[in-house]
Amino acid sequence: MKRIAVFCGSSIGYNSIYVNAAKELGNYFAKHNIGLVYGGGKIGLMGTIADTLIENNGEVIGVIPHLLRHKEVVHTTITKMIVTKKMSKRKVKISKLADGYIALAGGFGTLDEIFEALTLGQLSIESKPIGLLNTNRYFDHILLQLDVMVKEGFLKQNNRDMLLVSDNIEELITKMKNYKAPEMSKVVNTVASK
Ligand code: AMP
Repeated sequence: MKRIAVFCGSSIGYNSIYVNAAKELGNYFAKHNIGLVYGGGKIGLMGTIADTLIENNGEVIGVIPHLLRHKEVVHTTITKMIVTKKMSKRKVKISKLADGYIALAGGFGTLDEIFEALTLGQLSIESKPIGLLNTNRYFDHILLQLDVMVKEGFLKQNNRDMLLVSDNIEELITKMKNYKAPEMSKVVNTVASK
């Protein structure tokens, strides 16, 4: 994986464990020559991971929609900033640049981005690995909800399994490297061929 898109909070949270995880991931990327693609902000965990990579001479590409190009939040010292017209165009651009996705702790924005990546995977529009860094078991309740969705028949187990989870960076990246996308389900195939 040459570049990974990271989705994470525009806040830093109340516990320093999340900032430390973002720094650790930034250091890991720099050490292993993995470029960062992200939302282009200088605030929150987004800013933390971008700063860590810049300090270590890593590659950082920000993709920001025009709407968010606000002086106070936009990062100004990264390798490259791409400005898109709309939020939807930004997602397409991020996906073109990245070989996989990782989510760290975050809010609505982070969940929106990671679930969109999962939805594209579910429809076989993309087959990139999607990882969740479950620092401090932050995502445990979301993971439980996914199991409810499988149990109640709204999510297929093999699609549930697309989401790779670990609280350890090395282990998460190994899972991502070994990832094989699930076969497209028969239902989707039938609909698509009509
Ligand atoms: P949230 O998790 O709600 O804090 O939102 C963070 C995610 O949404 C990031 O991964 C970004 O891609 C996007 N995002 C939210 N706020 C900003 C911002 N001010 N600048 C750039 N991207 C943002």
